[in-house]
Amino acid sequence: MKKCIIGLDIGGTAIKGALFADTGALTVRDEIASRHGSGAPGFMDSVCEFVMTLSRRRPVGAVGLGIAGVLDPDRATLIESPNMPELPGYPLKAELEKRLRCPVIIENDANAAALGELKAGTGRGHENFIFFTLGTGIGSGLILNSRLWRGEQGRAGEFGHVTVYPGGEPCGCGKRGCLEAHSSGTAIVRMAAAAARQSGGTVLRAYADTPGDLTPELIYRHARAGDEICLDIFKSMARGLATAIAGVHTLLDICTFIVGGGVSGAYDLFCPMVLKEVDQRVFCSSRGRVRLLKAHLGNDAGVYGASYAARQAFTPEPNGRIV
Ligand SMILES: [Zn+2]
Repeated sequence: MKKCIIGLDIGGTAIKGALFADTGALTVRDEIASRHGSGAPGFMDSVCEFVMTLSRRRPVGAVGLGIAGVLDPDRATLIESPNMPELPGYPLKAELEKRLRCPVIIENDANAAALGELKAGTGRGHENFIFFTLGTGIGSGLILNSRLWRGEQGRAGEFGHVTVYPGGEPCGCGKRGCLEAHSSGTAIVRMAAAAARQSGGTVLRAYADTPGDLTPELIYRHARAGDEICLDIFKSMARGLATAIAGVHTLLDICTFIVGGGVSGAYDLFCPMVLKEVDQRVFCSSRGRVRLLKAHLGNDAGVYGASYAARQAFTPEPNGRIV
């Protein structure tokens, strides 16, 4: 019986998983809630049970695992994981390989998603790009020469924590003015809640006492309907993105930027705003060269990427390099 490859995408609230055939096709997809409160052993139990369920007793050739957090340079242990505080320091790779009896490749979740888009999504045919997710935060992965660029310490691709407004809004990382603090879904809602409290003609005034009801999608719909304040919120969000994109483009001459995540549902609104702003921040000869594309794989990007990382480990390239 041919061995299958499993791709997992582990977040603070859910563990997504998929079984891939030897052709690379996704054949089974499932999702379970992340188990909290039972420490690292409880987490290991839930991951291993999930892999068994996904594989349906077929032999597993390798497991690829994308996980939120900062990994050590060997990608064997988490150093930081804000959403899963029980895991940092735990020998994740070694324990999983012992229990699953197959190679396990661990990758940062945003890097895995970038890899997924490279191999099976919008990134196909692009040798160089940044993939980033616009959600409650901003995660990203950098692809250079068709390979994941992890950087010297394995921390590359932190696009969301590039400073776009010095002295700007506080960010979860402890700094101020990060892209994430100005252009994420959380930032959009924060700007809308502030507008709702102020006087002026905007539909947002109706949410002055219920700011918890504000969502990026709702603000997008009002912007599309012509509410000037909601449009200004997206213009401000787009300015932050354009500043970060123009900086990366000027430094690395990367022309392709791929956006995923929940807020990418507003792509048709913010894409022209971002590209107009980018053109004001790059060399004249670069105007019109930057592309902002929408990701294709949606929530599956992470499991696709994790499975590709695992597949390469299972059947390494002749030069021994893994992705
Ligand atoms: Zn930050």
